[in-house]
Amino acid sequence: MNKQPVISSKENDINASNRRDFLKKASIGGLGMGFLGNNPEGYISSDNNDSDMESSASSNIRITDLRCAVIGNSPIVRIVTDQGISGYGQIESAKASYIKPHVLFYKDYLVGEDPTNVERVMMKIRRMGSFKPWGSAVSAIEMALWDIAGRAANLPVYKLLGGKVRDQVRCYCTTMHRMPVWGNTPQDYADWGARVRDSEHGFSIIKSTIAYHSPMPSQVPNFTYRNISPAAKGSRDYFYYRGPLTGSGIKYITKHVEAMRKGLGDDHDLVLDCGPGFMLSDAIRVAKALEPFNIMWLEDMLTGDYTPYVLADDYRRLTESTSVPIHTGEQLYLRQNFRELIERHAVNILGPDPADMGGIAELKWVAEFADLYGIQIAPHGIFNGVLGVAAHVQVGATMPENYIAFEYSHPDPVWWCDIVEGLPDPVVKNGLVDVWDRPGMGVDFIVSRARKHLREEDKNFFD
Ligand SMILES: [Mg+2]
Repeated sequence: MNKQPVISSKENDINASNRRDFLKKASIGGLGMGFLGNNPEGYISSDNNDSDMESSASSNIRITDLRCAVIGNSPIVRIVTDQGISGYGQIESAKASYIKPHVLFYKDYLVGEDPTNVERVMMKIRRMGSFKPWGSAVSAIEMALWDIAGRAANLPVYKLLGGKVRDQVRCYCTTMHRMPVWGNTPQDYADWGARVRDSEHGFSIIKSTIAYHSPMPSQVPNFTYRNISPAAKGSRDYFYYRGPLTGSGIKYITKHVEAMRKGLGDDHDLVLDCGPGFMLSDAIRVAKALEPFNIMWLEDMLTGDYTPYVLADDYRRLTESTSVPIHTGEQLYLRQNFRELIERHAVNILGPDPADMGGIAELKWVAEFADLYGIQIAPHGIFNGVLGVAAHVQVGATMPENYIAFEYSHPDPVWWCDIVEGLPDPVVKNGLVDVWDRPGMGVDFIVSRARKHLREEDKNFFD
């Protein structure tokens, strides 16, 4: 990847004097959440004074268009303004086949608004999103608004969210798709541990899958008493399974997790994504059975992917029954749906996805509130792509000390690294991403290259 700080997008090639004029007028005091941090010299015109701040109310940047294109298999949101600045957000690739009309639904609410008043714009559209997958359009729009706000102020987004708590943001590696277990024996699981232990990027936290978040229910005889339903049939059928486990199913999980831990060794933390689909009593039995194996967290046993409910009391009973940290939250939309989980100490770790929950400021709010209750944060993001990583890094830099790591999204396809500019190279070193200082989210499309990957119906996306 070219490390030159080239802003290649045509719309971001506004000339320096126009940008300076605009910065004098623009509202840094009006940037949405009120998280605005220091305004160090060098980032913005040093003649910014009180009268400039007052005149900020007259900032006249306006949204002129909202677009969505699927690039590769990733839906990309672009907000266009009348000041030569655009902002971008990314939606997870799993939604590529259907989400575009939902994004464009919000266009009429955005056009004419000042995008640097992030919160004011979000108040218009936030109420029309919902649990995964219907929070993703709102979330990507929020990220694109912050991208514009940062570019307009010539500040990285982390400065607008309160400034850096850390210079490097930790991420973790999910192996389910890139490095799955090959086979069904305990030795296969031990071999998996040895294989992923020394994988690229030096991740210290490795996530794999068991039970209802894995092929176990369909591949292991006598694993579950689930009731087979028509919904369970299909290429990704194991995500539809739910039901009681057999005693031998619980023993199978225990034996194979023990093998995973042996293969991985003690120098890495092991995370297990488990469901959703467990009955509460089975979740308690499995969590207690796994206590000897030093598991960092058990994820989504009761709820999770595409379950539009919270079940805080059930999670509280599970969490209180075991010493293994319990984690959930990737499917939840907005801070209100985290409230009971936090106030009731229903989980030990929350895993919101900023690309589903309503955006990065929403994630920061939940992290701050969770910290008051001793609950940790490990955000979801497996399919959020390159711009998703940028969003995670910007907000992750500002998180309180309950922050663990975000789920890293490997560039998919790998040519994503060739069509954008601004990410560190390599992106991840020793499981950490250095926080960069470019304006906005800090990642720019190299339009001449990115354009080649546009579908016919999206060919005007960068115009
Ligand atoms: Mg999960």
